[in-house]
Amino acid sequence: MGKSLRYETVGRFRSRQSGKCYLVKRRLATKDLSCNCQGWIYYRRCKHVTYVQSHPYVELTDIPTYQEAIRMDFGRNLEAKEKWTVEHLKDVVL
Ligand SMILES: [Zn+2]
Repeated sequence: MGKSLRYETVGRFRSRQSGKCYLVKRRLATKDLSCNCQGWIYYRRCKHVTYVQSHPYVELTDIPTYQEAIRMDFGRNLEAKEKWTVEHLKDVVL
């Protein structure tokens, strides 16, 4: 059995000031959100997670081509779907 995916990435943010990029992930089992920014790491609170909570739809730059959809087994291959998603998330500038 392959390693199971525990998280899916649901948001990518770019800081207007520093240009740094942050990713918000959702734990598949519990739906809990987390972020890799300092605010989340130290205080378990940040504007990126708040944004995702109030914008429940993942914003993408593109839709999968037919070939890409086949590679993801139409969303059933979670690892391939996650890889595609991370590459096609729209940057939200905050
Ligand atoms: Zn954050």
